Amino acid sequence: MFRTVVGVDIGNSTTESSLATIDPDGSVEYVGAALTRTTGIKGTVKNVEGVAKSVMRALEGAGMALADLDLILLNEATPVISGLAMETITETIITESTMIGHDPRTPGGRGLGVGTIVDFESLAESDTETPIIVLVPRGTDFDVTAKAINAAVESGVDVTGAILCNDDAVLVANRLNVKIPIIDEVSRIDLVPVGMVAAVEVAGPGQSIRTLSNAYGLATIFGLDPDQTKVVSPVARALTGNRSAVVVRTPSGDVEDRTIPAGSLELQGETKKAKVDVSRGAADIMAEVQRVSPLVDVMGEAGTNTGGMIANVRQSMADLSNHALADVRIGDLLAIDTAVPQEVRGGMAGEVALENAVALAAMVRTKESGMKAVAEAVTSHLRAAGATKVDVAVGGVEAEMAVLGALTTPGTDKPLVVLDLGGGSTDAAVIETNDHTDATHLAGAGDLVTKLIDAELGLDNLELAEEIKRCPLGKAESFFHIRLENGTVQFFEKPLPPTAFARVVALGETGMNPIPTRHSLDRIRAVRRTAKERVFVVNALRALRSIAPGGDLRQIGFVVLLGGCALDFEIPELIADAVAPFGIVCGTGNVRGTEGPRNAVASGLVASYVASQAPAEPQVGARA
Ligand code: ADP
Ligand code: MG
Repeated sequence: MFRTVVGVDIGNSTTESSLATIDPDGSVEYVGAALTRTTGIKGTVKNVEGVAKSVMRALEGAGMALADLDLILLNEATPVISGLAMETITETIITESTMIGHDPRTPGGRGLGVGTIVDFESLAESDTETPIIVLVPRGTDFDVTAKAINAAVESGVDVTGAILCNDDAVLVANRLNVKIPIIDEVSRIDLVPVGMVAAVEVAGPGQSIRTLSNAYGLATIFGLDPDQTKVVSPVARALTGNRSAVVVRTPSGDVEDRTIPAGSLELQGETKKAKVDVSRGAADIMAEVQRVSPLVDVMGEAGTNTGGMIANVRQSMADLSNHALADVRIGDLLAIDTAVPQEVRGGMAGEVALENAVALAAMVRTKESGMKAVAEAVTSHLRAAGATKVDVAVGGVEAEMAVLGALTTPGTDKPLVVLDLGGGSTDAAVIETNDHTDATHLAGAGDLVTKLIDAELGLDNLELAEEIKRCPLGKAESFFHIRLENGTVQFFEKPLPPTAFARVVALGETGMNPIPTRHSLDRIRAVRRTAKERVFVVNALRALRSIAPGGDLRQIGFVVLLGGCALDFEIPELIADAVAPFGIVCGTGNVRGTEGPRNAVASGLVASYVASQAPAEPQVGARA
């Protein structure tokens, strides 16, 4: 008599099923697998919908009916869920009317111009002694502007640059007899102070400015002493990488680069304690986390951004998992330095500065898992749907199941370490030759990478960020070819869609999607890769250190990567590169020889069930 069983792994993001039939002699045949999005938070009754869907799909794929199903094996979901928060810790404020860092799409002319700001009406009457920069108000026609500047230059006025409100810089530049740098799209032109000395710089296409982004360049132009140079150095820093900029020097105008008092984190370890200021950055925070580990809980300083951040994570996890606030503990914390574009307070043209921020991912441990309730709900739901004889059992520690599943990868053997790269957490487990297992769960995984990409590119669109994370980039250079990010060219027979032309595109499975931002391909690529490194390389090393015998990575021989992020086109190679110096062989798993890095926990549940039933060594693996 066969038993038809299905192992179901409810993850933070994905619910996976592995369907098998078991012979009375204990041999297993895997007959189906399926995955769906997890419904609700892992470990809560809302999971039922996803479980039912995934089980039914697995049955469908195997040509079986719900009524055939004898047993559903649910994982004893480690009651850990993850939360995310991000806070900026610096801000740039412009006081009075210094203007910085404006980077319009299409500045005109090129070069550096220094002079006193004169408004457009007074241009004709300007004296010929001092160099001037002309300020052109909203609505002035480009032809009128160009004619007036040409006339002034002819009569001997030394016009060295122009600041425009309209988006006309190129049109004006093309009509001038003498080439000057022109900045446009200055939306609040009324705030630019007339009579002050200013500098306008425009670099050639594909270049960035040299003088205004250099503190000593500013000192030279404005005749600053060492103290004043110190004060303006944030201006130079904010302008780095721009193609164009204006700096106006007003007597008391200033740009402040200040650190927001972010507050501190209190780390409570099993035996040690630490307090660390969040503005000290990720490296310091993580050093303290490691020092006090294992972590028991984390508190944020009340009344500060950090306090609010930690309280939010805790509260949302308490709400979602239906636990009392006091029962929610933070068992791991990953801090990451990031830089996010933010509009500068006090700016005149929507100037943006990259502000430093810290992202925190927290792993929350609740008192108990809600899997019993989930199992009951699954039973009644599926019985009602026609699975008349089905039983639901909860069992197995997730990490142990993951190793059992990973061991179905061809070419693997004990001792073995698995790294499960999921959506919310990075989980690691080790199985030694004597079957002893150990596991660890770390905060931060695929969702954090997506969030970093979203924030650092200023997208405010998680779907787009997810696409950028998963796909290589290209640039449509003509209607018939794209340049791929590795420098090679791909040609097409049919013209590319006009929406893709001259754009950076994400090369997905279903075709190419233009990325609607001004960022260059190189910048998007750099953000994408460093986000993956900051999350997964850091977490892989942390995880391996915590389960390696004696904390020594050299004691680990083989690492198998599992989970959704092991499907990524570059994460596995980034991790493999990072662990190679320790002599570790690292590759992506192929569960059951067919499922790739997916389905390990679900298949492990079946394998462990079989082992618990049959007294003899069970035969695990697909039967031909
Ligand atoms: P969990 O076990 O927490 O439910 P998963 O193992 O399903 O999580 O992994 C989810 C993560 O994997 C998400 O961050 C998702 O972006 C990522 N992911 C899923 N499929 C792919 C893919 N084909 N390429 C890259 N990343 C992927
Ligand atoms: Mg998982």
